[in-house]
Amino acid sequence: MNPGPVVADPRVRQALADVELCHREPEFAGMSQRVRGMIAEVAGAGTSHAAVLLTTSGTGALEAVLSSVVPPGGKLLVVANGYYGERLAEIARVHALDVEVVDFGWTSPVDVERVAAALRAGDVTHVGLVHHETSTGMLNPVTELARVVREAGASLVLDAISSIGGEPLDVVADGVDWCVGTANKCIEGIPGISFVLAPHERWHGLAGNPPRTVYLDLHRHYQTQVVDGSPAFTPAVQVVHALERALELLLEETVTRRSARYRSSSETLRSGLEELGLDLLLAPADRSSTLTAIGQPDGIDYATLHARMKAEGFVIYAGQRELSDRAFRLATMGQLTVDDIARFLTELRLALAGERIGRGSEQRA
Ligand SMILES: *Cc1c(COP(=O)(O)O)cnc(C)c1O
Repeated sequence: MNPGPVVADPRVRQALADVELCHREPEFAGMSQRVRGMIAEVAGAGTSHAAVLLTTSGTGALEAVLSSVVPPGGKLLVVANGYYGERLAEIARVHALDVEVVDFGWTSPVDVERVAAALRAGDVTHVGLVHHETSTGMLNPVTELARVVREAGASLVLDAISSIGGEPLDVVADGVDWCVGTANKCIEGIPGISFVLAPHERWHGLAGNPPRTVYLDLHRHYQTQVVDGSPAFTPAVQVVHALERALELLLEETVTRRSARYRSSSETLRSGLEELGLDLLLAPADRSSTLTAIGQPDGIDYATLHARMKAEGFVIYAGQRELSDRAFRLATMGQLTVDDIARFLTELRLALAGERIGRGSEQRA
């Protein structure tokens, strides 16, 4: 129940083993084009936009976008209310960008007015925002924030890594300039491929920026993948093939229905957790469809709880940094069933009561 890599459909895992081909052959060019087209479709975009694929985890794609799009003399404003917002600022600092952070503190919602005020005060060219703050389960108001960014004449870089496919997102209606995602969270693919989606005019605008890295130079990836039809470097071919299958399954299910499926699982889970007397960190209105942060219960430490639940077949996920002693997390992304959630709640109740230690491992043995 970690927020990626998620439990994938067997057809997606099978797709990993089904392909052996050279990335310079037309078969790969076709596959890459189909994958990039489906990514645009999942985010509500059409031919006005193009996605490029990067063989990296999500952080690599964030690093590519921040190091490529903010020009010399540009300034990045980061909206932060958790670990991943802070990570955007960290990446910007490593690349010696001029960066300012509007920090709301973990578990607090973003105040759009404060962001608008920071934009009025400064010479900001780009704004970095995390759509779903996976450290807490907070869903940030992308539509409202995109509006104030547009009004300030800046560009929006959206970390949609843990939201795309699992939350409604329309980059065209909202005017998201740079949208970053990854294969192995709500798209339900296999880890190893991430992507950046943007309107063609934004891609063309990169032509004059001097690259800060070779491997992550986004303009080079756009030129090679989208214009020339052949990737700059060797991609994870099998993972792209699995991503193609995952995207087909997502479009068949639709983002709307997948998001509703995740939310329904989360709601079942959340009411079960509350019945067990556990505290949920966020107010209901702030919660995403997919992730729940739970106050660490008295009387059992995280490591013990983790070990007991793992013995029953469930992986729970630790809190990060300032929440590491205070909270743990549960995600309902991926191929989890209603029965899985019910069984999880039963086992959690027994674990909290200190019963049946190790029963599951004995049964499986
Ligand atoms: C998972 C995640 C990332 C990137 O993590 P990787 O381990 O590099 O794939 C970035 N931002 C958010 C919001 C995430 O949930």
